[in-house]
Amino acid sequence: MRNQSEEQIRAGRGGGTALTQQRKVVLEVVQASAGHPTAAEVFEAARKLLPKISYATVYNSLRYLKEAGLVHEITFGNSASRYDRETERHDHAICKECGELVDFNLPETSSLMLSAAEHSRFKPESIHLTLVGLCPRCRTD
Ligand SMILES: [Zn+2]
Ligand SMILES: [Zn+2]
Repeated sequence: MRNQSEEQIRAGRGGGTALTQQRKVVLEVVQASAGHPTAAEVFEAARKLLPKISYATVYNSLRYLKEAGLVHEITFGNSASRYDRETERHDHAICKECGELVDFNLPETSSLMLSAAEHSRFKPESIHLTLVGLCPRCRTD
């Protein structure tokens, strides 16, 4: 558990608001998973810890944790959202064959933000790079 994160939530939500047991379990599941689980995978794992938890509760908890900045949601087109315990800026590589999603960190990405902002005329807040391809297990060359 990252106590610092719990502090952040208390600070952000007017003090004294601890995570409910369900939200705590959902957060623990995301933090314990090495990869980037989907809501369905988080639900499967959460159910082992809290057999009565419903899919809707897991889904709502994920949304709450995302808004509180404790997990990140990653979306790719219309495939299922994935949840990420790593909330610091980082980049992703996704396998188009098996869906494997791995983290990497390319310091150069940050320096692209200004020119990306210029081209899009957006006010930049964050940038992240997604490499799409075949993972080491799926590549055949
Ligand atoms: Zn793969
Ligand atoms: Zn990630």
